[in-house]
Amino acid sequence: MARQFFVGGNFKMNGTNESITAIVENLNKADLPENVQVVICPPAPYLALAAAKNTQKTVEVGAQNVFTKASGAYTGEIAPQQVLDTGATWTLTGHSERRTIIKESDEFIAEKTKFALDSGLKVILCIGETLEERKSGVTLDVCARQLDAVSAIIKDWKNIVIAYEPVWAIGTGLAATPEDAEETHKGIREHLAKTIGAGQAEAVRILYGGSANGKNAPDFKDKVNVDGFLVGGASLKPEFVDIIKSRS
Ligand code: PEP
Repeated sequence: MARQFFVGGNFKMNGTNESITAIVENLNKADLPENVQVVICPPAPYLALAAAKNTQKTVEVGAQNVFTKASGAYTGEIAPQQVLDTGATWTLTGHSERRTIIKESDEFIAEKTKFALDSGLKVILCIGETLEERKSGVTLDVCARQLDAVSAIIKDWKNIVIAYEPVWAIGTGLAATPEDAEETHKGIREHLAKTIGAGQAEAVRILYGGSANGKNAPDFKDKVNVDGFLVGGASLKPEFVDIIKSRS
């Protein structure tokens, strides 16, 4: 089955009115291939700006995080409905920076993912192992544990895209080799076939994330289980367009 190539841009806590306007205007002008799905995730204060500047509608806009409630006394949190109100249609969940810095558990991430989907958002669900876990040979066990928390409460995966992001590769300049990424993505898909069924496992897109850039993206071209990228640092730079065009 052909899965549509997908590129996400996680701006993290970076950007200003000026720089985010410039990034979106650059994407508007870029003549992006129509067969690539692109989602940019600016910080929450800039979601509405990014959605409004996205005049060519060649990209979609996503949040980096949402909460598990629709409204109420949850200071500092953002409801999925509020994200939808800005014109954004996606959210990240489970980014390793939230798993480690904010100490979000697998179960809480699963709950967020479910509430986001139930509220009408689509989700890029991030998973991945630390360097210590990789060295101990438990990469697939960690990914399976993170996924199992989600499959325990979500049966329909059509609005989920998985981003496999080895923690040791995020923001370090140390990308996984295309071969390593392919092997892990294949293992993730095989695990999902057992838990959510072969049909859904075959259809779900699995992105690679971790120091992807304009130079290394083409190296992943022939990896059949790598369906795109989640890009951090390079999504703030003009080379983001090269990554989007890397399969054309
Ligand atoms: C990310 O934050 O999701 C990411 C992949 O970051 P970077 O591309 O900078 O490693």
